[in-house]
Amino acid sequence: SRRPIIAGNWKMNKDINEAATLINELKPLVEGAEAEVVFCPPYVDLVEAVKLTEGTNIGIGAQNMHYETSGAFTGEIAGEMLTAIGVKYVVIGHSERREYYNETDEAVNKKAVKALELGLTPIVCCGETLEEREGGKAEAKVVGQIKEGCKNIDDISKVVIAYEPIWAIGTGKTASKEEADEACGWVRKTIEEMYGKDAAEAVRVQYGGSVKPANVAELMAMPNIDGALVGGASLTADFAKIVKF
Ligand code: 13P
Repeated sequence: SRRPIIAGNWKMNKDINEAATLINELKPLVEGAEAEVVFCPPYVDLVEAVKLTEGTNIGIGAQNMHYETSGAFTGEIAGEMLTAIGVKYVVIGHSERREYYNETDEAVNKKAVKALELGLTPIVCCGETLEEREGGKAEAKVVGQIKEGCKNIDDISKVVIAYEPIWAIGTGKTASKEEADEACGWVRKTIEEMYGKDAAEAVRVQYGGSVKPANVAELMAMPNIDGALVGGASLTADFAKIVKF
């Protein structure tokens, strides 16, 4: 059985002082959680976040990384730089990065492969737009993103996949638990086609998009949903209620 994983994606929120305050508030509240707990603050907060969470059940993740080790890539951060400071997870291919920074499935795949090589747990994101859903193209979009983004991976069971329908992100509009479970099932079925049944049984699939304390339990009760990737509701101490769904 798969251990649930609840991750907070802070996006571009919280300077180092605000980050320290939130981490110190959440630390005692998430202690003893059954789920694996991950906070993903902005890059400049990571060193402090790792330090503040040492010896706790909270793992720290970055929100992106480059697939090259070093070089002339102004403004970028290498995976090696993340592992050097004790970061354990990295969000890859979030829809905001795909939309605003032209991240392709090819880049997502390079990043995922590299993250695993470095011992980082990649949280690979996928999900369709409202237009794609209404046009009956949601499944094709998600399957395509997984086939391209998750290919050539040695041990897929170490990858976490987040299904985040774009129309549910930051909109307050959560996918119904049935819609979310169905789409997480598309992900799992695709992993099975690519890597076999055992791999598909082992891989953890999160749902993301307006997850809140009030809806997390019903989502987590669905058979194909193993966790949540949480944006807005990860920015206050109430996140503990999601972690301890
Ligand atoms: P919200 O929880 O704010 O809808 O964001 C979801 C998300 O994009 C997490 O990565």
